[in-house]
Amino acid sequence: KSLTVSLPGRSYDILIERGLLDAAGVITRSVLLHATRIAVVTDSNVGPIYASRVATRMAAAGFQVKVITIPAGETSKSLDMLGELYQEFLSFGLTRTDAVVALGGGVVGDLAGFAAATVLRGVDFIQIPTTLLAQVDSSVGGKVAIDLQAGKNLAGAFWQPKLVIMDPDVLDTLPQAVFMDGMAEVVKYGCIKDGDFFAFLAQRPDRKLLMDEIEHILFTCCDIKRAVVEQDERDTGERMLLNFGHTLGHAYELAGGYERWSHGQAVAAGMCAAAHLGVKLGVTPPDLPERLEGLVSALGLPTAIPCTAEEYAAAVGLDKKGTGNDIRVILLDALGHAIPRRMDKQALLEALV
Ligand code: NAD
Ligand code: ZN
Repeated sequence: KSLTVSLPGRSYDILIERGLLDAAGVITRSVLLHATRIAVVTDSNVGPIYASRVATRMAAAGFQVKVITIPAGETSKSLDMLGELYQEFLSFGLTRTDAVVALGGGVVGDLAGFAAATVLRGVDFIQIPTTLLAQVDSSVGGKVAIDLQAGKNLAGAFWQPKLVIMDPDVLDTLPQAVFMDGMAEVVKYGCIKDGDFFAFLAQRPDRKLLMDEIEHILFTCCDIKRAVVEQDERDTGERMLLNFGHTLGHAYELAGGYERWSHGQAVAAGMCAAAHLGVKLGVTPPDLPERLEGLVSALGLPTAIPCTAEEYAAAVGLDKKGTGNDIRVILLDALGHAIPRRMDKQALLEALV
């Protein structure tokens, strides 16, 4: 299956198929006619399993290949690691007509993408996402970034890939918790844009059953994100609907010091809290929270995370997406339809605790 993300002057395809990793060389050659060198950035978990396979295919397609392996984990999305990538690229002899390939989860994609966006004022970039989160979310849409001391994703760019190569088979080696983290984002797409898709997921709340339908799931999620990004590449309107569950999720991540709760767990609880908030405000149908909680808990994700008023306040105040005394929360007026709602921060806190 394939999708085309159509942006002015920068359209690109998302290819979704089991076993596609073995075609990575041929496919890459078809979009990069004149490149000589490919720098493959991967991490210390993904590299040992998949990098030599990708490198072999790229070499067979006539590219000179260098694999660069960074330590797995969010701490690699740093200024230091960015500097190391620049050095590796240049010592490899990368030129402006060459390309960077990100082979890994969202950490590798965001870091390698930002390096590609900025080295030599920007070189071509290809995403080969290997986590469910990276496949349904971070590899599509062109946001790339690193973390700074002051916070996550504070230095970054919009840098669309030339191609996204998605092989669902790579998900087989994902730890269960990482797989289910990605499912939180999958559920999010159903909540905000597609009630039928939500019902489809609710009938298969189990990894094996979901993997039986994984191509359909990836296609549906990427198609939703594609449509949103095409309308609002720079995140000034429609794209904020993708923040459903994330404002409150941010509070939970912060409350747990970013260690206690994973992003997916925090988003899962954030979506449930937003559903209850919506009912309180008369926006969300009263039976919706229970349906959402049913799916979330069947996936082994939390439906609620304890959070004090102070923690909510800190998160709401620090949320870079909020401005002034008002904050924008995303609510559901139906399962499958989201609306943004401006709220006074104080009123929001009172409704939450
Ligand atoms: P991650 O990249 O850290 O991957 C999670 C873990 O899974 C890592 O330990 C990794 O080594 C391992 N892994 C990856 N693929 C594997 C595979 N196929 N088999 C076995 N192990 C594998 O985390 P993530 O959840 O993929 O991404 C999180 C990052 O994505 C965050 O930094 C977040 O800010 C970013 N993000 C970006 C966007 C965007 O639009 N750019 C959107 C959402 C999230
Ligand atoms: Zn998210």
